[in-house]
Amino acid sequence: MSEIEANLQRVRERIARAAERAGRRAQDVLLVGVSKTVDVERIRQAIAAGIPALGENRVQEARGKVDELGRPVPWHLVGHLQTNKARDAVDLFDVIHSLDRLDLARELDKRAHARGRPVSALVEVNVGGEASKGGVAPDELGRLLEAVAALTHVKVRGLMAIPPEAKDPEDARVWFRALRKLGEQHGLPELSMGMSGDFEVAIEEGATLVRVGTAIFGARPPRPQTGPEGR
Ligand SMILES: *Cc1c(COP(=O)(O)O)cnc(C)c1O
Repeated sequence: MSEIEANLQRVRERIARAAERAGRRAQDVLLVGVSKTVDVERIRQAIAAGIPALGENRVQEARGKVDELGRPVPWHLVGHLQTNKARDAVDLFDVIHSLDRLDLARELDKRAHARGRPVSALVEVNVGGEASKGGVAPDELGRLLEAVAALTHVKVRGLMAIPPEAKDPEDARVWFRALRKLGEQHGLPELSMGMSGDFEVAIEEGATLVRVGTAIFGARPPRPQTGPEGR
């Protein structure tokens, strides 16, 4: 068994146990393997091991990988998206987790319209109110959702959040709970929350998509976080 296959199996078991604790079904949680910085050979191993979806945070990097690997599983965009890359994003990704402003929604709508098929999106919410992070402020979410609802080719399926960094995964619980509440308020069923350090807490709080990189692929090499896409 490859290291990635073993890691994937462990993550799956942890997902199953967290779901069970919450009285939920493990199959209601989609595992998105975040493969940013991971080379195609290792991504291939994850696909062979049965990873159900892949996530990238940079359009350019994803382009190269999709060209090489094709689409054996859906690709998700989990990182910040610049408006001028909306066309590429619509091209590459099945789900965009980082919709956080109306001008981006309009551009995605235009590009999805041009190709004749709507794009699925999650609205990213800045639950912790951190200046360094993308995402719409919780009190502006309603207005954004209302405006996006008028667009025919952007389908908002749910919400996404990256809570403030914390050492103890329990610290993230309040933020996950806050996101779930917002989802309930707005009738949005999908919740993308939880990463390697805290996905079990996120599942206990209702996550339907978890974005897990390190726990599957191992530690990433440090890279300079320069552009806005590096967040
Ligand atoms: C990198 C990244 C992840 C995965 O993080 P890990 O801690 O490696 O699991 C999840 N979500 C987003 C938005 C990311 O950029």
